[in-house]
Amino acid sequence: MKISQLFKEKDVTLSFEVFPPKTDAGFEAVEKAASEIAALSPDFMSVTYGAGGGTSKNTAKIAGDLQDRFSVPVLAHLTCVSSTKDLVKSVVNEYKERGIENIMALRGDIPKEGRISFDYDHATELIYDIKSIDDSFCIGGACYPEGHVECARQSEDIQHLKEKVDAGCDFLTTQMFFDNSTLYQFLYRIREKGIEVPVVPGIMPITNAKQVARSVALSGSTIPQKMKIMVDRFADEPDKMKEAGIIYACDQIIDLISNGVSHIHVYSMNKPDIAEGIMNNLRSIIR
Ligand code: FAD
Repeated sequence: MKISQLFKEKDVTLSFEVFPPKTDAGFEAVEKAASEIAALSPDFMSVTYGAGGGTSKNTAKIAGDLQDRFSVPVLAHLTCVSSTKDLVKSVVNEYKERGIENIMALRGDIPKEGRISFDYDHATELIYDIKSIDDSFCIGGACYPEGHVECARQSEDIQHLKEKVDAGCDFLTTQMFFDNSTLYQFLYRIREKGIEVPVVPGIMPITNAKQVARSVALSGSTIPQKMKIMVDRFADEPDKMKEAGIIYACDQIIDLISNGVSHIHVYSMNKPDIAEGIMNNLRSIIR
């Protein structure tokens, strides 16, 4: 099912993300985790794509298997910064052959060791290419409530986002954020600039102390005082930290739904126990 259609049919949705293994050796463990998350019956699941390309075939395989075995709609990611146009074409065709209807079109982070292809500079170009290969996909794009790290001014980032949406994004998923007021301000600014597609907040449950530094390094997201205090209190008690992190994420989600932002994506990071904790807390609210 197309995610754009799902959003029309359901007022509230909850979806989970998994990432493929870095090496083929890890495939079985990831597939097991992804299956356990799919068994929770989320509205859809996304499968990320390694920007380096090496194990990217696993994205198609995991996404296709999830859809076939669990009848869960899937969103397969595709990054372009290290890809040639030929590679993009073959991945898009593989997604099509596997019956995948939704693609998250991304640039990817520029590799530190340098780019191996210069066919694409931005996600917008990838969206035009996907559409020229096959115009039937529902396409998602990424957005950044606190601004993308490479763009000094948020107004410019929003202008680029508008170009990306105009290229053919059916919806946007956000970078993680930990204070909902950041999202509400961002929504006000993009709606003012004529970006009208659904925006799906990406929620990252922080369930261990080490994750805080990692998440900030990856995303540049601000950690609010409320979260710092929580992590400080529970950092040395893993079970309590996990539970507190799940509750913090659920609190964010309930506030979002209460304010009419009701298609929620959870960065479940191949952790079925965390996805289950969130689903158990929210099941009666989202169904
Ligand atoms: P773009 O939309 O191309 O934007 C990147 C930067 O370029 C921004 O600063 C933007 O303002 C600027 N820009 C855009 N157009 C122009 C223009 N015409 N001229 C000048 N500047 C311009 N990474 C992975 O490797 N695999 C994944 O599966 C993955 N999934 C993600 C899912 C989500 C929801 C998010 C939020 C991020 C994901 N990422 C993933 C990370 C993402 O690839 C990086 O954040 C990357 O740095 C930017 O990707 P983008 O698609 O947003 O790029």
